[in-house]
Amino acid sequence: DIFDVSNRVALVTGASSGFGAHFAKVLADHGAKVIVCARRLDRLTSLVDDITTMGGKAFAVPMDVTDATSVKNAFDEGSKQFGLIDIVSNNAGVADSKMAIATDETSWDFVMDTNLKGMWLVAMEAGRRLIAAKAKGSIVNTASILGLRTAISQSSYATSKAAVVQLSKTLALEWARKHIRVNALCPGYFVTELNEDYFNSEKGRAYIQQSPAQRTGELDELTAPFMMLASEAGSFVNGVALPVDGAHT
Ligand code: NDP
Repeated sequence: DIFDVSNRVALVTGASSGFGAHFAKVLADHGAKVIVCARRLDRLTSLVDDITTMGGKAFAVPMDVTDATSVKNAFDEGSKQFGLIDIVSNNAGVADSKMAIATDETSWDFVMDTNLKGMWLVAMEAGRRLIAAKAKGSIVNTASILGLRTAISQSSYATSKAAVVQLSKTLALEWARKHIRVNALCPGYFVTELNEDYFNSEKGRAYIQQSPAQRTGELDELTAPFMMLASEAGSFVNGVALPVDGAHT
């Protein structure tokens, strides 16, 4: 298994839904012990049941990524259960499609607090612990293709994701010699709870028709790119922003 992560402990944010739930299952499938985090504990509990049924190991811990104490507590509880966390999949994020002129301070802060500050808090909590333990690790931040290009009505979202790309690249530079890799995964459009209303609408379908691949991605198409970054398969891949979107303009 080139993506073998047995003997590794992974923490996954945004695990109650979409990408995070998928990545948690994939990590468990390749042997990691997985700490699944989000605010909705009922969803996490049923994910833990699914993973356990598959023969994997998982543990649910509530986390609000906008709250430093909540992030710290989740790392404490998770590592008490499974040991030092040496893989992080950072997915917690929100969408807020609004024209720039209609974006008020509250909605700007909502997007930045979750998508940028949240990823920063989680990455720093992981990095500090790995550095203190002199252990190697891998952090995969789910940015977005909209961190590399942009679109109308995405001023706060695309800005938050571009910042996540730059944060990932900077941490990669600072931590390369400590054997901590930090990469940004940049998915294109995948139908999840984040955007299903839009992609099931006439407007959303028309938007996808204009994209080069003329379709949305399937979650399975993220599996290998994600595992390359998370596992030792990508041991010399550091500080990249990897698009997974079937081509973009
Ligand atoms: P979902 O809406 O399905 O999942 C979002 C997750 O984020 C949920 O698990 C939610 O959990 C969690 N979350 C939101 N706010 C917080 C918070 N304050 N604290 C903790 N967890 C929080 O969306 P996706 O799976 O599609 O998105 C995952 C990531 O991928 C996001 O960062 C998104 O921007 C990014 N992305 C998505 C794309 C897509 O097409 N779907 C494309 C490119 C990037 P809970 O509410 O239980 O806390």
